[in-house]
Amino acid sequence: MTAPPPVPAHLSDRPLSGGLVVPWITPATTGGVYLFGNLAATSQHRCLHERRCQICGRALPGEAVLFARTSDLRTRCTSEPASCPPCAAYSAGACPMLSGARSTYRTSTHPALAGVPADPQRRLRQGAPAERWYAVHVQQYDVIPHPSRPDNLAASWQRIPPVRIEAVPVAGR
Ligand SMILES: [Zn+2]
Repeated sequence: MTAPPPVPAHLSDRPLSGGLVVPWITPATTGGVYLFGNLAATSQHRCLHERRCQICGRALPGEAVLFARTSDLRTRCTSEPASCPPCAAYSAGACPMLSGARSTYRTSTHPALAGVPADPQRRLRQGAPAERWYAVHVQQYDVIPHPSRPDNLAASWQRIPPVRIEAVPVAGR
């Protein structure tokens, strides 16, 4: 484990957990436990529809970054809401999934979620090797029902071509 990256000034008002900024979208239990890797549906919808950054919760500037897995590139959409460029730069180094610090998906659900039915997609991914991540830079995105999970919303760049797509560098490689 390397030391967590410094917290950017614009995120200094966010709570920290293990030295990492807790994203605006990350749900917390009533006991104050943050459930990293889980999207709170109401916050997800607010981020997507109100064009908010999922990390700082502020309105997105002109350009935004959507983090996408290889499989998301095929459908040209992701259920992960966008991040503003400064938050995206921080996340690429800080988020254990994005930075490659965690090489597989969580093998079990969070203890605080015990008894909560698991999302079938998530269950499928448990213990599977992590996919490569890409930063999709967009000026705009459409909010659509996710093509393979229609009960879920997604940010789509199918209609509006992205500015650029870059692979997220894997730490230590
Ligand atoms: Zn942000």
